[in-house]
Amino acid sequence: MENTRVLMVNGTIFDGRGGDPVNGAIMIEGDKIVSVGSTEAFLQEVAEEVPRIDLGGRFVMPGLVEAHAHLSYYGANSVQDLDLNSPVEETVINAVLNAKTMLRSGYTSAISFGSISRIDVAIRDAINAGKIEGPRYLACGRDVTATGGMPDWNPDYLKLGMEGLGIKADGPWELRKAIRSIRKNGADVVKIYIDGEGMLDNDYPGELAYTEEEVCAAVDEAHRRGLLAVCHARGAEAVRIAVRAGMDIIGHANVLDDETVELLRSVRDRIFVVPAIEWHVGLYERGAEFGVTKEFLDANGYQEEINESISSVKRLKEAGVRVLPGGDFGFNWSPHGTYARDLQNFVEYFGYTPKEVLLAATRDAGAAMKPRGMIGTLESGKFADLIVVEGNPLEDVRILQEKERIVGVMKGGKWYHNDFVSSIQPTVSNLV
Ligand SMILES: [Zn+2]
Repeated sequence: MENTRVLMVNGTIFDGRGGDPVNGAIMIEGDKIVSVGSTEAFLQEVAEEVPRIDLGGRFVMPGLVEAHAHLSYYGANSVQDLDLNSPVEETVINAVLNAKTMLRSGYTSAISFGSISRIDVAIRDAINAGKIEGPRYLACGRDVTATGGMPDWNPDYLKLGMEGLGIKADGPWELRKAIRSIRKNGADVVKIYIDGEGMLDNDYPGELAYTEEEVCAAVDEAHRRGLLAVCHARGAEAVRIAVRAGMDIIGHANVLDDETVELLRSVRDRIFVVPAIEWHVGLYERGAEFGVTKEFLDANGYQEEINESISSVKRLKEAGVRVLPGGDFGFNWSPHGTYARDLQNFVEYFGYTPKEVLLAATRDAGAAMKPRGMIGTLESGKFADLIVVEGNPLEDVRILQEKERIVGVMKGGKWYHNDFVSSIQPTVSNLV
């Protein structure tokens, strides 16, 4: 098997396990990492026939993980757009392009938080089959919502119904049926909406669209079918219901009281929280360009919700809860390709150091991915998913937003992007 091995030497290796970066080398075989260690030791021990890549001292880190992704969202100006202006034909084409953009941006894994139609499943399968380029992707089913829940935004007199965006399900048995259908259609993740959103009149943040009985049934059904259960929960009571029901990942969790923070602390070994604060700050900063003014947002409690989120995440961080970057990208104010803005958000708003947010976006978000234990750190036995960066994101995390700085993207031992090709020996055959 020696001939499938590749040795990368002389990198500034940030392995995502918690320590500081070291000058070192990585041995890769097939799609996995064999070992990580010092360049000198490898050069002495490894046979000369093994192809070498000189990383030239560049920063090497685990591939980033986007923990609240929507590959099927593109150019949306509102939640309504996802329902009315996302015909499946155009949306598939956009999703294929978004998948490529995400991988090129240094994100080698992503957890979907909702798909239009069955697009996520088709995209994931095409990526896994090597037909298109994209991250490892946990595909979500359509949104599961109660009647009048957040995605069920349209009043009956419009006679619009709902097709691509969501499935309406009321009561434990309809919920179970919706989830069984999502399982049948091939998704990995089921998302339910427990409360609402300030931009929509039909269900506000903190206004519970589902009862605890319903949420418990949904999570039970998801888990008995091997699906990851994720939710939209903005307010404290929605979050408490999600935790008690056994939810795997809680989206948003903007407004938390002490009791809810304590509850999350008690399950911190199994739960993840994704604030998706880019939804708020991106909309607040750039929404006006797309007709969503600050006045409108303020009238709907946005500034207040941002302030509450900042306080909530700081308390969650103190409580040792794993909070993951992931920003609901795919709207006009937060387009695909700008995912690393959420890393900056964690530093600017939540007080994370660059190192802490890099660990959150690799080690911690990798722990939420499947297959478990294979993603998020550079160590023996894990998938060879890594990026090579020009510059040091531990000094300034914003450089990860500059595509020209992401000079190498490797997923499963294969280069999907490489700008330092001249330093690779011609014997390396896996360069694309
Ligand atoms: Zn979302």
